[in-house]
Amino acid sequence: MLMLPESSLCIDGVIRPATGNKTYDIICPWTGDVVGRAADASVEDVQAAIASARRAFDHTDWSTQHEMRFKLMTKYRDVLVANRDTLVLIARHEAGSALGAAFRAHVDGALSGMTALLEVFPSVKWEEDRGRKNEYGFDTERLVLHEAIGVAGAITPWNVPLYVNVGKVGSALLAGCTVILKPAPTTPAMGAIMGELALEAGIPPGVLNVVTSSDPVIVGETLVTDPRVDLITFTGSTAVGKRIMEKGAPTLKRIFLELGGKSANIILEDAPDFAQTVARSIVVFHAGQGCATPTRLLVPRSRYAEAVKVLEMAYAGFADKWGNFDDPTHVMGPVISKRQLDRVMSYVELGKKEGARLLAGGKVRTDLGGGFFIEPTCFVDVRNDMRIAQEEIFGPVLVVIPFEDDEDAIRIANDSDYGLGGVVMSADRSRAMRIARRMRAGAISVNGGMSITGDLPFGGYKHSGVGREWGREGIEEYLETKAIGVRA
Ligand code: NAD
Repeated sequence: MLMLPESSLCIDGVIRPATGNKTYDIICPWTGDVVGRAADASVEDVQAAIASARRAFDHTDWSTQHEMRFKLMTKYRDVLVANRDTLVLIARHEAGSALGAAFRAHVDGALSGMTALLEVFPSVKWEEDRGRKNEYGFDTERLVLHEAIGVAGAITPWNVPLYVNVGKVGSALLAGCTVILKPAPTTPAMGAIMGELALEAGIPPGVLNVVTSSDPVIVGETLVTDPRVDLITFTGSTAVGKRIMEKGAPTLKRIFLELGGKSANIILEDAPDFAQTVARSIVVFHAGQGCATPTRLLVPRSRYAEAVKVLEMAYAGFADKWGNFDDPTHVMGPVISKRQLDRVMSYVELGKKEGARLLAGGKVRTDLGGGFFIEPTCFVDVRNDMRIAQEEIFGPVLVVIPFEDDEDAIRIANDSDYGLGGVVMSADRSRAMRIARRMRAGAISVNGGMSITGDLPFGGYKHSGVGREWGREGIEEYLETKAIGVRA
């Protein structure tokens, strides 16, 4: 049954099918069934979207009317909020979100993120008076302007599609850019609805275009290589991020990248409620398909045996707390696709071969329906040089690594190509802060604090990315800087 609204393209203010009426199927991760159809764009459709975004940037006052933009974007937020039920429906049927997860990052987190962007908008400086300066014997009055960079191509992944779409589209439009949004092939509906609701909110034609495609590469590479696109904002895997940087080089585009992670969760021996803290570290939220999910659990050697016992019980206790489509307390459902299931399972096999001990899970669950279900999985006795500790698995798989002391914990946490998120838990706040300061990652939670919210900058060190999304810094990524000197 087709549960989802038909997903069309949004180009130049018109909701329309792809050239030649081409469509493709949207597969539900819970059942493996077709739940919707999406427009399958051609290169000509992308070209039309780029031309439209270019026109809207070059020939309208979208980029210069800050107040007007703020009003329209506030309306856009309101329209998104009014359509929450549809967004939840899409998150569940298309991205495989469990109901409890939809109420968090998937939908409600994305909507409050949009509000947070509106809240930080007034703190963006469009103009700065840098005063008068005498140089070479005469006075100059100086001004620094911050202006929208132009046309932004936004390429997004499937894991939390609304959250990432809102982060990019919200920030870029507030900055005054015009946008072409390209959602992941598996989650087109969450992109398409962004276009439809933007028009409903009165966002002018061409300001936001949405182009969906069954081909993972063609639309994205067209955006990356086209000289009319000034900036690419990409969220996805590190491998594709590197390719985008390379492909964007000939046109010297501004490129910013939100990439993968293998974040460390350091639980010190003095962490309050040690057992509960360890038990809460199991990787289950949205089946572990989160870029900043702390998937490496670092526990002190002195309490390692205790931690392993706690984890064993935590996983056993979780056995009937996931995989039910209708249970609002569930935060874990299937992984997105058969392809992702195979990928995750190949890491489970690899972990066994590498000599890690499978403490829990590790099996595909066909009994839960025709979808792509993998049990919450945990490997203990993991060494940080194993591939399961170094590579992003992007599934419900936790690896547990013992450490000797604080220095060793910091060393292990930083011994990774990635540097996206991190967690430190300790009864001694200043000790935790010393460790947090030394972790080479972009978002660190100390004692359960929230480091990832719409009004804080989010992004990675090292192979986890370039640039920041969300918050004032996220809006500023879409700005160019101009210095003007007026002879006094
Ligand atoms: P992916 O890299 O395969 O694809 C991401 C997007 O890029 C998709 O829209 C895809 O169609 C497109 N794409 C693929 N090849 C391309 C090319 N050559 N040129 C242009 N575009 C191309 O990633 P995914 O599998 O969709 O998502 C999972 C990845 O995303 C994980 O690595 C995860 O860590 C990462 N992620 C990062 C963040 C973050 O903020 N750092 C957030 C969510 C997901």
